[in-house]
Amino acid sequence: MMNRNGVVTKIRTRIRTDPFKNNYDLVGKELGRGKFAVVKKCVEKTTGKEHAAKFLRKRRKGQDCRGDILNEIAVLESAKANPYVVALHEVYETTTEIILILECAAGGEIFNQCVADNDEAFTEKDVIRLARQILMGVACLHQNNVVHLDLKPQNILLTSAKPLGDIRIVDFGLSRRVDSVSEVREILGTPEYVAPEVLDYEPISTATDMWSIGVLIYVMLTGESPFLGEENQETFLNVSQVNVDYSQDVFQGISDLAVDFIQSLLIKNPRKRPTVEECLTHPWLRVDSHHHAVEAPLDEQEASQSESESESPVPSPELVVIPSYPTWLGQGELKTGRDTFSFTEPFPPRPEIQQELIC
Ligand code: ADP
Ligand code: MG
Repeated sequence: MMNRNGVVTKIRTRIRTDPFKNNYDLVGKELGRGKFAVVKKCVEKTTGKEHAAKFLRKRRKGQDCRGDILNEIAVLESAKANPYVVALHEVYETTTEIILILECAAGGEIFNQCVADNDEAFTEKDVIRLARQILMGVACLHQNNVVHLDLKPQNILLTSAKPLGDIRIVDFGLSRRVDSVSEVREILGTPEYVAPEVLDYEPISTATDMWSIGVLIYVMLTGESPFLGEENQETFLNVSQVNVDYSQDVFQGISDLAVDFIQSLLIKNPRKRPTVEECLTHPWLRVDSHHHAVEAPLDEQEASQSESESESPVPSPELVVIPSYPTWLGQGELKTGRDTFSFTEPFPPRPEIQQELIC
């Protein structure tokens, strides 16, 4: 079952109403928190296995948000076969909360390495590997007509930080199904990562995630948030004007291919952005095209990174969610202009299907 604006509330997982604490022990301090959720590490008593328990309040700002939580569960269920999406183990419900028992991504948020000092920060080679995983995970979502709508370094976790493990995409609280029946127009997301069409109340599509991936890769490589302003209004202006700094100051020691990759995504017209499959064929991400800049140590970055530290992404960017207003359209009108997308120079003429994209 799906309502008009892409929220799915039909789930298959049995919601348990017996006390969560009968079956799990909470351990250690919390793993993280967002606007409406707290996430804590827990151990399943019968198996001794570690999990992450995400406690979601059902009422937020006086409104019943159970439907949104069911949507989050439905998306996690639909992504069961996706190796880059955090696995959902069980669901519990109390009078006030729904608790999602998730696979524990012990390495924490990639955010930490994005804003870390040089020796802790990602190298371009790391970013290439993680970017491929993020894209493969997002490809599976998009194949199932799911858009994440909140891709940012706080929602991309690692299985382990040292040695650098694999990524897990989390937080499907804002995710929507986009298909040929309804059109999603909503203002939601995180200001720094939100695409221009969202600010313009234009239809949301898989291309909306592609914009955020452009911002995400920019932050992973440079430690700077390309659109972040002093206040949200300034950030929104920067986004709508696509005001991005691609100068050598910011991208010192980073390959031209990486810059080209980001530039191809940070394009105002969503139809002109490459799809996730197209992105995976970009030379920057092709295993066989690692050129010297990728292998070189990125020690040159130090000066530009320390200078910009105060401008680094803030730890908890504010989430904006404004009530949606869906628009119904006839199916014919909804054909996206994807076939009109043309590759810019470094893309090969036709995207090949990636072998890894099995989901
Ligand atoms: P919110 O919707 O409130 O943003 P998230 O799902 O993003 O909630 O969780 C908040 C934070 O908790 C994440 O940014 C991350 O730091 C941590 N977290 C979430 N899920 C997990 C997990 N499965 N394993 C480890 N940490 C997690
Ligand atoms: Mg989050």
